Amino acid sequence: IRERAQIYRIASIPGDGIGVDITEAALRVLATLSTTLGTFELETTTFDWSSANYLTRGHYMPEDGLTQLKAFDAIYFGAVGWPSVPDHISLWNLILPIRKALNQYVNVRPTRILAGTKSPLVGCERGDLDWVIVRENSEGEYAGQGGISHEHSDHAIGTELAIFTQVGIERIMRFAFETARSRPRKKLTMVTKSNAQRHGMVLWDRIFYEVAKGYEDVDIDKMLVDAMTVRMVLNPKSLDTIVATNLHADILSDLAAALSGSIGIAPSSNLDPTRKNPSMFEPIHGSAPDIAGKGIANPVGAFWSAAEMVRWLGEEKAADGLMRAIENVTAAGVSTKDLGGSADTKTVTDAVCKEIEKLG
Ligand code: ATP
Ligand code: MG
Repeated sequence: IRERAQIYRIASIPGDGIGVDITEAALRVLATLSTTLGTFELETTTFDWSSANYLTRGHYMPEDGLTQLKAFDAIYFGAVGWPSVPDHISLWNLILPIRKALNQYVNVRPTRILAGTKSPLVGCERGDLDWVIVRENSEGEYAGQGGISHEHSDHAIGTELAIFTQVGIERIMRFAFETARSRPRKKLTMVTKSNAQRHGMVLWDRIFYEVAKGYEDVDIDKMLVDAMTVRMVLNPKSLDTIVATNLHADILSDLAAALSGSIGIAPSSNLDPTRKNPSMFEPIHGSAPDIAGKGIANPVGAFWSAAEMVRWLGEEKAADGLMRAIENVTAAGVSTKDLGGSADTKTVTDAVCKEIEKLG
């Protein structure tokens, strides 16, 4: 007798632009994975929380939106942002409140060069670039504090207050050390800007070295963020796990994705490590209005994010299978334009589904 499949409740928020295309593709791949392996089932509820919704109804999510999300095992997110709504409005009405309300204080962003794809860096082979960026996801430069004084005069002053708390820094450092420890090279690089920013960043440095005392098996080093961009380009092999603030890691992970081949392949996990709230999984790219609705978005970042989601839910075998299927497809040269290929979203999705079926 076969064991009954585990059922997971997933909230799907496709959002805007290519978020809609790639979420649909990811849900199809997940359904194929669930049917093929038969060990788990996904019960998906889709929420139309988008910029279009905001423009017609005046809100992204309803008042009890965050409460609704708490009932799920995980959240799958496409992208949010559209030219007709200022970006700070869309971000602060949807994705940032979710991250905060659901205690998703870690954002994990792995990057590596997938089989059959190429880094734009000359001589950078597969295996030379294999990083995990651990991004602080709850405070820092995105604390949302500050304001504009004398807004309507000729002397307006805008302040943007970055807030770093001991609790916030300690917990992200511990997560980063655990991540580094779990990887073969056991290497952690901490990024900061404590030469020019002399308060919060200095505290960040200090707590890093304190937490490090509990992880003597992890090899550590410290970089200033400006020098870090240079090192990522010139010496990618020297890096493994990276921990950085909300803003710094946001920027470094776009660079990392580009260096690994395309912004279209990179995944991210917004995690509540206490597991008291659902975690949220999304590709790192945005809604890409320039290619929205054309059916040509690269769905690989969405698939990889889906793999991270099932891994977080405890379905290791499914996650590994999905990653293998993705790389079998990229290795065969089936890829979208951003990776140098000519396939559209549907062709890549069909190919990944076919590979998954071979696993069964
Ligand atoms: P956000 O503010 O949400 O991060 P963004 O303004 O940084 O968004 P993206 O929407 O990520 O921008 O797009 C940046 C560029 O990368 C665009 O030219 C877009 O077409 C391209 N791009 C992004 N994602 C993909 C994808 N999945 N497939 C192909 N091209 C993509
Ligand atoms: Mg971006």
